[in-house]
Amino acid sequence: MPALQQSPYLLYSDGEGNIFEDTTLFAVGRSGWDAVPVVVEDWILLPDGGSLYELPGRKGIGIDVETGEMRLCEKGWAVAAFIPPAHTGLYLAAYETDPAAPVLPLFCYTAVSWQDEQFYVPAVRIEQDIRQECGGFNDEKIQSGAEHLMQAYPHNRLVKHLAENCALTYRCPAARNYFIGRWECPVPSSPACNANCIGCISFQPEDEQIISNQDRLSFKPTPEEIVEFTVPHLQTAPFPLVSFGQGCEGEPLLMWETIRESVLEIRKHTSKGSININTNGSKPAAVKALCEAGLNSIRVSTNSARKQIYEAYYRPNNYVFEDIVESLKVVKHYGGWTSINYFVFPGMTDNVEEYEALRKLIRDTDLNMIQWRNFNIDPDWYLGKIGVQETGDCLGVRRMMDLIHEEFPNLKYGYFNPPIERIHGNFESDFAH
Ligand code: SF4
Repeated sequence: MPALQQSPYLLYSDGEGNIFEDTTLFAVGRSGWDAVPVVVEDWILLPDGGSLYELPGRKGIGIDVETGEMRLCEKGWAVAAFIPPAHTGLYLAAYETDPAAPVLPLFCYTAVSWQDEQFYVPAVRIEQDIRQECGGFNDEKIQSGAEHLMQAYPHNRLVKHLAENCALTYRCPAARNYFIGRWECPVPSSPACNANCIGCISFQPEDEQIISNQDRLSFKPTPEEIVEFTVPHLQTAPFPLVSFGQGCEGEPLLMWETIRESVLEIRKHTSKGSININTNGSKPAAVKALCEAGLNSIRVSTNSARKQIYEAYYRPNNYVFEDIVESLKVVKHYGGWTSINYFVFPGMTDNVEEYEALRKLIRDTDLNMIQWRNFNIDPDWYLGKIGVQETGDCLGVRRMMDLIHEEFPNLKYGYFNPPIERIHGNFESDFAH
């Protein structure tokens, strides 16, 4: 597809699911609270698996093709894109919100535009691993895989949960890959959490204006239930890894004794693959115990490398930002692979203070990898809740990625937890592609 020669046009919706281009306005992006122009080179075709949202009670902002002035599109509601995994958005959708507008659900709202019969988004493909390509999932295979494994493990509540809820209801890519017998297998384990994230996808307070995307696990699996299906997966799947800490649960470190017993038992049966934990990193002592049991990698989720921005969002119970830093250091000390699940929010992530804080975090923890993930949250609601009125000077997300890469050439970028082959082998080729 030839590169764009000029800025693409703004999109709007009629509020009934129909989307139109407005050729009197060039599309722009949003960074923090500000609408900003997007350079032509930053627009890429909307990747396969992307979807479009109409944003009720919001009017899009664009640049008038005649005057060059920024103004509102009065023709309808604003439109945004949900860009598929493996891609990182560089700008949010730019719009003005009516005070009576509803809070948007927990998805990412990347800018989107139109040119030559095609949708465009300002984004980069940050990960070449194909494990969540939407074209790679065969529903029949997933259905028969789920039925087969529920029959194979008739008393396993976790396999039943992964089949009926995760794969067949929430359509979780990790659960669907498990039932196809490949790559990363999810292992949720904790019904509770010691944080109160504003945008928690598995629990939202009754009085909140939005609902969680999925229900939280309602039982505590036993080590026997965990080991029963994870060992065969590690022994047979290509690029196998099992990951504790999923979107349908609370914090796995609250179940560290069960996880430790499981890891010890798994490693009695097989040395294949990687055992990973996705976590808020709140309990470094528990992380130490898991490393001693055989944990291979950790992914600590964070919206920021700045203590005050982190704690304003996570609202932690009995832990502090310094604990998550310590958990990364512990895994590194035991020779494990360390990643951050970095919620990218243009205007906050590429803010100069954040850039300096991220440099410090990388240095202090000797971090292996940044997973640059789109932040699934209503931008106005998020900034309002954490009390940010002004986001200050920003570098631009792409420029920040480049600066960090220049300073830390061994630091890897991606979107997914790497398999052991990629950790110990050639990072640029040893993965599903
Ligand atoms: S750490 Fe995870 S489970 Fe806990 S509140 Fe935050 S998003 Fe929810």
